[in-house]
Amino acid sequence: MARRRGPRVPGPQHGNPTLAPAIASVQEVAPRESVRGGDRRKEASPRSSRPARGLPLPAAPAAPHLRPGRRDAAMAAAAVAPPEVLRECGCKGIRTCLICERQRGGDPPWQHPSQKTHRFIYYPDTGWAVGAEESDFEGWAFPFPGVTLIEDFVTREEEAEMVQLMDRDPWKLSQSGRRKQDYGPKVNFRKQKLKMADFRGLPSFSREVVRRMGLYPILEDFQPVEQCNLDYCPERGSAIDPHLDDAWLWGERLVSLSLLAPTVLSMSREAPGSLLLCLAPSGFPEALADSAMAPSRSVPCQEVEVAVPLPRRSLVVLSGGARHQWKHAIHRRHVRARRVGVTFRELSAEFGPGGKQQELGQELLQMALSFQGRPTT
Ligand SMILES: [Zn+2]
Repeated sequence: MARRRGPRVPGPQHGNPTLAPAIASVQEVAPRESVRGGDRRKEASPRSSRPARGLPLPAAPAAPHLRPGRRDAAMAAAAVAPPEVLRECGCKGIRTCLICERQRGGDPPWQHPSQKTHRFIYYPDTGWAVGAEESDFEGWAFPFPGVTLIEDFVTREEEAEMVQLMDRDPWKLSQSGRRKQDYGPKVNFRKQKLKMADFRGLPSFSREVVRRMGLYPILEDFQPVEQCNLDYCPERGSAIDPHLDDAWLWGERLVSLSLLAPTVLSMSREAPGSLLLCLAPSGFPEALADSAMAPSRSVPCQEVEVAVPLPRRSLVVLSGGARHQWKHAIHRRHVRARRVGVTFRELSAEFGPGGKQQELGQELLQMALSFQGRPTT
C-alpha cells in the first residue's frame, strides 16, 4: 500500500505564495496522509507552490484583487447559508433532499445510489487510483487519467469575496438539495437548441479567475462560455447523482473550483468488462512511476468507485476518460459544511472554429468573456 515518504524537498518559492500557481498532476510528491481514506480526510493544509517537474510554469501572477477595495468586508466571509434555504426544496421525480424527505415522512420511497463495492482513492501526484485501506483491493492500483488537480487556486480572501458577491444575487433551488446560479445561454439539451436569452456573460469576479486558468498548461486556451455556481449544504442533505456532462455543446474540459469546504468527487462507470490492477509496490508512488509492472489482478468496472478528494480552494479539471466515460457524483455524506462549487465549461468543436455552429459559438464567447453577467433566470 502507499507508504508515506519523508518530508518533501522544498521547491522554488514564488514571491507571492498565495497567488503563485501550485500544480500537482505529475509524479511529484508522496500522497498526503490527509488524502487517505477519502471520508476521513481533512482540509488540505496550505502547501508551497512549486512547478511540477517538466511543466513550463509561468511567472507568478501579479497580485490581483477580484475587486480592489472590497477585501475587508469579504474577509468576514459568507460561510453561513441564509436560513430561508431550509424551508423549500427544488426536487423533482426521483431526486430528494433532507427537506422533502422530512416532509414526506414514513418509509423512504426514495433511493440513494447504491454504494459501489470496491473503493479506490485517486492520488493526483501519480494519476493512479489505489485500493482503499482495509479493502479487498488495498495496495492494488490502476491508472486513472483525465483528472488534474490544482491546489490553492484562489486565496482565502478571494474565496470569501467570491462567495459574498454570489450571495448578493438570488440562488435558485435545484435538485437534491442544491441551489444554483447560472451564467450562460438557455439550453435545451434534448432538442439541442440554445438561446442567448438574458445571458450577459460570466460575472465580473470571474475575470481574474479565468485569466489565471490560462497560466496553467492544461488550461491554456481554455475559454469558458458558461459558469454554474452550485451551493451544497449538510442541512439540506445536498448531493449530486452520478452523471456525465453533455458533450454536444460542452467541450473537452470541465473545470470546477471548490469554495468554502472540501469534498470528494465520486467517479463510477457502468461499463461491462474489468479493470486491470497492478500491485502498488512499497515506495508508491515513485516506484510505480519507475517500474513497469504487469497487471496481475482485475476487478469488474461496475463495482468500482474512485474517490477524488477535492480540497477547499482547489481547481479540478476533468478531461478524456474522466470526462466522457466515468460519471461523477457528490454523495451526501461528503458534504459536511457549506460548499460552493463553481463549474466552468468550454464549447465543443461543433461551436468552435470551422465547426457547423462557429458563428453562434463566437457570439457566445464574446458575451461570456465580457464579464458583465448576472445569474440568468
Ligand atoms: Zn428535496
